[in-house]
Amino acid sequence: LSQLYGPLNSLGYIYRTINQSLVDAEKLLRLLDEDTDVNDKPNATELVVTDGEIEFDNVNFSYDGRSTALNGVSFKVPKGSSVALVGESGSGKSTILRLLYRFYDLKDSEGRILIDGQDIRDVTQASLRRAIGVVPQDSVLFNHTIAYNIGYGKFGSSPEEVEAAAKAAQMHDRIISFPDGYETKVGERGVRLSGGEKQRVAIARTLLKNPPILLLDEATSALDTSTEKDIQKALQNLVQGRSSLSIAHRLSTIASADIILVLKEGKIVEYGSHSDLLARGGIFATMWADQTSDEQSIPAPVPLPAHG
Ligand code: ATP
Repeated sequence: LSQLYGPLNSLGYIYRTINQSLVDAEKLLRLLDEDTDVNDKPNATELVVTDGEIEFDNVNFSYDGRSTALNGVSFKVPKGSSVALVGESGSGKSTILRLLYRFYDLKDSEGRILIDGQDIRDVTQASLRRAIGVVPQDSVLFNHTIAYNIGYGKFGSSPEEVEAAAKAAQMHDRIISFPDGYETKVGERGVRLSGGEKQRVAIARTLLKNPPILLLDEATSALDTSTEKDIQKALQNLVQGRSSLSIAHRLSTIASADIILVLKEGKIVEYGSHSDLLARGGIFATMWADQTSDEQSIPAPVPLPAHG
């Protein structure tokens, strides 16, 4: 029996790995209905990540061969730095993440995407996806225990590793408040978690996966202040020391990014640090002023008079 257990166990691992990639990818990349056609080259090599530096080199991309989704996009994510993508709907933010995850391959004439100098078209998709962690907008949980949902990030992870990841993702205290703690069933047939809690489970899972590169798609929905703080802390722990590309909606994320890339109609129209872009007084400065004034216009709660 033990001879059988080994192969079965690795099959389980393969199944879970594939399944996880699909779950993450489906949600982040909304690709269910899309026809993708990316194949490894016969001589594809394994991606070797040394620094995790990402480069888009004059990337031009169209989904349908007619309208342009990205137009002459060039930028670098230096080793360990965080880049926030901002811009109106349809400006090309998700397309950048999809291309880096290689849901589409660029044609030779459409520019290049490099990781540590290696063209991602020349490496195996499996090695590319192992190097990239994805935290989607709306994380999917399995109808299983919370320990399983977190432990998924790393095959054979110990309960101590799961707990350490949950702590770094600001989820431990919430988990131990459940009657069965880490063994509590979550998902449709178990405890229902809020969007912010599901995202923290996804962050814990990705912490265990420990990838050098991260793609983050922030939820647009409004969060209460304490959830917002917890998620920010969890994200800080995750982003620390990794190269990350985030579709950023929250002011706190945008302000703390090393570099902000402002997209408009598939082009980079502004690029720089938060303070550079504010000083420039361009599109970003206007967006920032609009968003901050929106937040300030929300009336503060009025304290109820004391009864006595
Ligand atoms: P949002 O903030 O709304 O998610 P975005 O900035 O992420 O928008 P993209 O999804 O990257 O924008 O879209 C860039 C352009 O490509 C848009 O014009 C969009 O209509 C187009 N596009 C996106 N996905 C597809 C697709 N699967 N097929 C055809 N066109 C697409």
